[in-house]
Amino acid sequence: MTQIAVDLHMHSALSPCGDKEMTPNNIVGMSMLKALNVIAVTDHNSAKNVPAVAHAAKGLGLQILPGIEVTTKEECHILAYTPDIESVLALDTILYKHLPMVKNRPDYFGHQYIMDEEDEIVGEVDKLLISATDLSVEALKTIVDEMNGIIVPAHIDRKSYSIMASLGFIPMDLKIRTVEISRGMSLKKARESFPVSPEIQMIQGSDAHYLEDIAEREYFLDVPDLKRDTLLKYLGYFR
Ligand SMILES: [Zn+2]
Ligand SMILES: [Zn+2]
Repeated sequence: MTQIAVDLHMHSALSPCGDKEMTPNNIVGMSMLKALNVIAVTDHNSAKNVPAVAHAAKGLGLQILPGIEVTTKEECHILAYTPDIESVLALDTILYKHLPMVKNRPDYFGHQYIMDEEDEIVGEVDKLLISATDLSVEALKTIVDEMNGIIVPAHIDRKSYSIMASLGFIPMDLKIRTVEISRGMSLKKARESFPVSPEIQMIQGSDAHYLEDIAEREYFLDVPDLKRDTLLKYLGYFR
C-alpha cells in the first residue's frame, strides 16, 4: 500500500461560483505543484470541463477521477464518481434533463464556462447549474450504479446542502462506504459529532473554488495504485 495524496472535490470555472482562473490547465498545474496524485473536478451538476482537465493531465502522472457534485431533490450535495470520461459525460446529459428550466444569470450567479484543453472558452451552460435536480438520492444512486460508479455524500457536517441536514441520517440501503467531511472540521470531531456507522469511512476534500484553495498533500488514501477502478473500489462497497 502506498499513501496517495488526493483532492476529490473542487470546482472549475464551469460552476457559477468557481473562479474564472479555475481553468483545466491551471487546475492541473496547481495540483502538480502541490504534488497531488489524484484529483477530481466536481462541478455542480455538470462534467463538461472534465475532458479538458483529463487532457491537460495526460502524461503527467496525475490521475483524474471523473466526477460531479450532484444536487438531489432533497437538496443534498452528493459527489458521484465514475470509471471513465464517457460515463461522467453520460451522467452530465442525464442531470441536465433533470435540472429545472431556470436560466443562469451570469451577472448575478457567475459564468458557467465550458473550456477546451487550451483553456479556451468554447461555450457556456445555459441552465443554472446550482439548481437542485429532481432526482432523489436513491434515484441518483441507481443511475450511478449502472455506470459502475459510486456516490459519496459531500460535506455531511454542513448545516445546508448535506445529507445529514436534509435527511438527518444516512439510509442503510444506499450502501454508502465513504462520506466527505468539510475541510474545516477534524475527522475526530466529525466521528464524535455525527451518528455515522463505524464501517463508513470519512474523507476530506478542499471544495476549492479558487486555485490557491486546492489541497496540499494533506488528504491521503491507502490504495495500491492510482487506477480509477482501484480508487472507486476503495470509496464504494459493492463494486
Ligand atoms: Zn457542496
Ligand atoms: Zn463543492
